[in-house]
Amino acid sequence: MQFTELGLSAELLRAIGEQGYTTPTPVQLQAIPHILAGRDLEALAQTGTGKTAAFVLPILQRLTHPLNGQTGSPLQRINHTAPRVLVLVPTRELAAQVLESVRVYGAHTGLRSLAVYGGVGINPQIQTMRRGIDILVATPGRLLDHLGQRTVDLSKVQTLVLDEADRMFDMGFIRDIRRIIERLPRERQNLMFSATFAAEVRELAHAVLRNPALVEVAPRNAPADLVSHAVIRVDQDQKRDMLLHLFAAHGWHQVLVFCRTKHGADALAKRLDQSGVRSAALHGNKSQNARTRALADFKAGKLAALVATDIAARGLDIDSLPRVVNFELPNVPEDYIHRIGRTGRAGASGEALSLVSSDERIQLRDIERLLKREIDASVLPGFEPRHTHAVPRPAAGRPPAHKPAPARGRSGTAERSGAPRPPRPAGGRAKPASHHSGQRHR
Ligand code: AMP
Repeated sequence: MQFTELGLSAELLRAIGEQGYTTPTPVQLQAIPHILAGRDLEALAQTGTGKTAAFVLPILQRLTHPLNGQTGSPLQRINHTAPRVLVLVPTRELAAQVLESVRVYGAHTGLRSLAVYGGVGINPQIQTMRRGIDILVATPGRLLDHLGQRTVDLSKVQTLVLDEADRMFDMGFIRDIRRIIERLPRERQNLMFSATFAAEVRELAHAVLRNPALVEVAPRNAPADLVSHAVIRVDQDQKRDMLLHLFAAHGWHQVLVFCRTKHGADALAKRLDQSGVRSAALHGNKSQNARTRALADFKAGKLAALVATDIAARGLDIDSLPRVVNFELPNVPEDYIHRIGRTGRAGASGEALSLVSSDERIQLRDIERLLKREIDASVLPGFEPRHTHAVPRPAAGRPPAHKPAPARGRSGTAERSGAPRPPRPAGGRAKPASHHSGQRHR
């Protein structure tokens, strides 16, 4: 099916064409008709599936071509100063990206949009809001600031989007979201997107959505297809040297590297940079300017590595990122899914490589449970681990999402320390292999 068959207006089709897109992705195909029809929607879709356009396109259509007979001419629209669409997102980066999508797809509609988020001055946001906007993209904290200062009027909101709802829970925004929702008109359309259907997400869905259409484009808790997974076993104190070795040996470029802590991300980025691998760290302690610059440099290919924490990396949209490296495994297994959502986007293949030390076995086991498969593990000659015994480390911050299970012997398929298998060389696209996520062990 082509975009032209979805009933979108000429100005939207023109913008879509300018992006070079002809075929809607599965989430777009399923979600757009429901949203155009005015229904509430609950969508299980990871980042990378084209979910942003799946809600932005029909929202733009409904604003410019309302169903109830009103015309959407710019002259009439000029009377609107309060936003008619509110998109709530967990991070500033995602806010900036959603705004970018709104502007790209809405380039020929004359609609006005704004993103408000913390870390930057509030006054320019207030001034833009005063001139009138149609679509407001916001992180919860900054939106509450605006509500407190009465610089935003949410009384005209017709459509609410909760994007990456699961991450908003992880980041503790649920109370803020409820406070914001109280300020919205009762009659409105509600759209909720989430990468996972954690219990709390379901709860919010029940509270907010009315008779929602359900769209599910990936199996529950399954990572994007086309991403291959690999583990290299290594001692913690050898990880930096191994990473440097991998960069040098394979000529890697544009690798997103995940660390658990801000301090760890800083230290690793510094070490890589000093060793000739151009790198920057991306985490919540960096100023918005530093984050924007690091991301722009990374996208432009000026940096070989972007070393990020989970929260900072949420919502990053980098076209055809070939590789994600987990320098450390996340404590929360769902974060693994979010991390690898950075690669293998919109049909491109990608590789998720995890450097796993003996004290991360619990985390690895929880991730494999979530994936419902074991990940092939190997050791790299010259970096054979000295420590092989599991030393469970209590998960920091949040209890593990899955209860530890009785110990099970790991088969030779998962661990082949006797037969080292170095990772695939850079540039080689991960080809569908027997451990491909589409062929999960049941
Ligand atoms: P998202 O899941 O919204 O983060 O989108 C992932 C990426 O897919 C973005 O870079 C989009 O520009 C791109 N994209 C969205 N829709 C399409 C489409 N129909 N065809 C090709 N790429 C798309």
